[in-house]
Amino acid sequence: MHHPSGAPDDDSDALFGLDALGPEPAETGQRPSFRISAAARRLLPVREIYAEPAAAASPRGRQISARFPDARMTTVDSHWRIPGLHGNEGNVDRWVRVKGETLVLGEKKTLTTRPNGRSADWIAPGASNGCAMACAYCYVPRRKGYANPITVFTNIDRIIAHVGRHVARQGRKPEPNQCDPEAWVYDIGENGDCSVDALICDNTADLVNAFRQWPTAKASFATKFVNPDLLALDPRGRTRVRFSVMPGDDARLLDVRTSPVAERIGAAADFLDAGYEVHFNLSPVVLRPGWQDAWTELLTHLDDVLPRRVKEQAAAEVIMLTHNQDLHEVNLGWHPRAEDVLWRPDLQQAKRSENGALNVRYRNQVKAEAVQTLRTLIDHHAPWLRVRYAF
Ligand code: SF4
Repeated sequence: MHHPSGAPDDDSDALFGLDALGPEPAETGQRPSFRISAAARRLLPVREIYAEPAAAASPRGRQISARFPDARMTTVDSHWRIPGLHGNEGNVDRWVRVKGETLVLGEKKTLTTRPNGRSADWIAPGASNGCAMACAYCYVPRRKGYANPITVFTNIDRIIAHVGRHVARQGRKPEPNQCDPEAWVYDIGENGDCSVDALICDNTADLVNAFRQWPTAKASFATKFVNPDLLALDPRGRTRVRFSVMPGDDARLLDVRTSPVAERIGAAADFLDAGYEVHFNLSPVVLRPGWQDAWTELLTHLDDVLPRRVKEQAAAEVIMLTHNQDLHEVNLGWHPRAEDVLWRPDLQQAKRSENGALNVRYRNQVKAEAVQTLRTLIDHHAPWLRVRYAF
């Protein structure tokens, strides 16, 4: 974990994080569980759990509450719109802190798998929603009014059964595409970070194990957090981890509470050796003075430190920054320096979405040129890195 200068101080959570976790059941693997470490406690010093009654009573819900015995448990009718938690007002000051101190337990009611075609063939229903990290550009909190701690869905068995039926219905993938030459790829972490979820409970492990049995499918998730506990799983090539990377200076400013980029890159070989496929998300690409040099340095670093076996199977998604006016205003309240680089009306164009939100992205011409520049930089400095798509 790192604490960027200029970003909100989230060190203070260490003060009351020390006793936040209960005893861990006996571990079976050789390495001690990371989720009981001081670093995990700093990221997730859970003090407060809001739970739907059925979620609290479920085996997964009980597993989670047993891990945080000192947390105060409050029953809620629905995991959405919890008064005093969700919503913008009054929470901006505590936004980052709420993310680590609060968990919500709910049941995922609507199980749908949506076609995607870009990052993955399909978006599976996620086993969580929300994140304990606080990337300044993150779109995940928008739907919950920005104060957005992790909601864990405890009905993981139903989620997995749903995905299993979907996989069975598809049969074999008829032809290769950029998502994967053979397998149907299912994104399992659209609205959160599966590596962080694995600090809380076994939902991520259950999904990784499930995909191991499905030879026509592959799980995929993007992450900004290195959780060594995932190395103890046995994915047998059926889970793709996409480590998100960006230049270190940008990450220190924008990727609040995440693992440092060099640590994510440094973990790639370990994840490959543990049986994961390892890809990279070059995202978001933030256009600011000097971005070309910064990305050159990052690509050179990837080329220098990654072993050949990682390079041979690696591929990348390139995703240009999108932003949002409401998020811009929230960020001005807690992390204004991030907005110096994220909010660039001179380079961006706005588009009102169906729900009325004003989303911004780089103007077509600016974006096309930047994508071309980045592709050229990749060709020069990391020619082994196949770009699956750039958007
Ligand atoms: S790690 Fe991902 S989900 Fe979490 S705050 Fe950052 S961008 Fe959002």
